[in-house]
Amino acid sequence: MKNMIEIGGPYIEKLESKARLCSDIKVGNVTRVMYFEVDEKWSEYLCTETIDAFVTGLLYYAVCNGYGIKSSSPMNGQLLFQMETYLLPVLNQIDPSEYKLIEFDVPTADILYDAKAVGTAVSGGVDSFYTIVKHKDDKRDNFKLTHLVVANLFNRYVDEGETRGQFERLKEKVVKIADETGLEMISIYTNHHEFMYNHFVSLYSFRLCSYIYALQKLFGIYYISSGAAIKDTNFYNVDSDDYDIFNLSMASTDTLKFYSSGGEALRTDKVRFISKDEAAKNHLHVCNFSESHNCSKCDKCMRTMLSLDIVGKLEQFERCFDLGLYRKNRNKMLSKIYSDCWHLYKDIVDSAKEYRYKIPLRCKFKGIIFIKPLLKIKNMIKKNRLIKRFYFKFKIDYLRFGKQKAELYRFGRNDFDNKGN
Ligand SMILES: [Zn+2]
Repeated sequence: MKNMIEIGGPYIEKLESKARLCSDIKVGNVTRVMYFEVDEKWSEYLCTETIDAFVTGLLYYAVCNGYGIKSSSPMNGQLLFQMETYLLPVLNQIDPSEYKLIEFDVPTADILYDAKAVGTAVSGGVDSFYTIVKHKDDKRDNFKLTHLVVANLFNRYVDEGETRGQFERLKEKVVKIADETGLEMISIYTNHHEFMYNHFVSLYSFRLCSYIYALQKLFGIYYISSGAAIKDTNFYNVDSDDYDIFNLSMASTDTLKFYSSGGEALRTDKVRFISKDEAAKNHLHVCNFSESHNCSKCDKCMRTMLSLDIVGKLEQFERCFDLGLYRKNRNKMLSKIYSDCWHLYKDIVDSAKEYRYKIPLRCKFKGIIFIKPLLKIKNMIKKNRLIKRFYFKFKIDYLRFGKQKAELYRFGRNDFDNKGN
C-alpha cells in the first residue's frame, strides 16, 4: 500500500447563511478540508456521526490512486461490508490498472436514522423529469418524492468561480421547477473537484451518493435518474452509470436506499410520459451546448425533438425548442439515427416502428450504408480495453479535442495539481 487517506472526524462549520459538513482529509503530508455545503436551515440533518459522505465522495479518488482509507471515526458497517466484499473486487476485475484493491482501517457503527424524505436531483433533462413525474404523485406514500436536490455534479470543472457560477445558474432553473411541482428544493455544494483522478468526470455514481450521505438524517430514499437502460447494463463504458444497478445496490443500506430510476423505460417512452407534465413543457432542457436554452441543432436536442415528434407531442414543447430548426434538419438526423449500432438510436428506430412514424427511404439508406459501418468501428474500439489504454496513453484524445478540452474530459479541471500524491 503506497499511501493512506486519513479521514478526520466530521464537524460542522457555520458560515453566514450556510452550514458545511467538513472533514480534514490527510494524504501524505498534505491536509485539505473536504466539505458539503447547504443552506443553514438544513444543518440539523448533516451527519457528523459517521464518515459515510466522505468515504463515498473520495472512493474513486482512493481506488484510482491505490490509497487505503483510514479513520478513527466510524462508517456504516453495511456500507463497508458491501464495498470490501463485492464492490472493490468487481471494480478490480473490470480494470485492475484503473481500480486498485484498497484496504480500510475504519471502525463501524450501525445507526438507523428516522429519515423519511425522498429525493432526486434535477438537471432539467428527460431522465430527470421522468423521475420527477413518475414519483411526485407515487401512490405509495413512502416512495413519494418530497425534495428536489441541486448538486454541483458537472461535466467540467475549470475553477471555483466558474463552478459556483454554474451551480447558481442551475439553482435558478430548479427553483422554477420546484415551484411548479410543489416540491421543496435543497441545494448541496461540495468541493469534490479538489480531489481529482483519471476519468473524474465519468466516474460519479458514488460521488452522487456522497451528497445524500451528507444529509442521511433527512433522506431515506433517493432516486438517481439513469440515462442507461438496465437491459444494456455493461462494464465496458468509462461512464459508471452504465452499471448503476450494481453501484447503487452497493451504496444502499438499511437506513438509506438508492434506486436507479428510469433504467426500466426506453427514452421515447420517457419522453411520452413527461409530455403530460406542465413543468416539463416549460423547463425541459437537454442541450449540452447551451446552459440557458436548447440550441435545437445538436444531437441531443434533435434526438429529443424526434422522440417528441414520433409520439405526436412535439408542438406542446414549442416553448423549449425551435421547431423550425427541427424541421429543417430532421432528415439529416433521421439518417444518423437509422444507423442502429448505438442503443439510444436503436430505441428511436424501434419507437418509429411502434408508432408507425414515416421515415423516408433515402434517410434509411444513407444511415445503413454510410453511418452504420463507421459507428460499428467506433463501438469496437470503445469496448477494447487495450485500445482504450492505448488511446489514453498516447493521448489520442488530445489530438481529437485539443489539450484543454481533452484534459477537461479526463480530469475535469486543467489546473489541477495533485498535491496529495
Ligand atoms: Zn442542443
